[in-house]
Amino acid sequence: MKKHGTTSRLRIDAAACDGIGVCAHLASEVLELDRWGFPIITVRDLSRGELSAATRAVRACPRKALWIETSEVPSVVQRAPGVTTPS
Ligand code: SF4
Repeated sequence: MKKHGTTSRLRIDAAACDGIGVCAHLASEVLELDRWGFPIITVRDLSRGELSAATRAVRACPRKALWIETSEVPSVVQRAPGVTTPS
């Protein structure tokens, strides 16, 4: 039996972003600004606290250029007792 976990990542649509940087001021835990004022995501897989910060940034973005992508990943493979792996 496979058990699944989930992973959440913050994403940016660079074409939609206007580079004002509101997001990075609200969520410095997960975003920083480059020298032109465009956001850079600094965290790959979001922890619970980082997810909260990322959610703040997504909600505040006036251009709807941020979103959180959640995907399922297999984390543990368990076999029933007595079941062997085919060779
Ligand atoms: S708030 Fe939105 S539009 Fe503004 S810099 Fe951040 S991602 Fe870009």
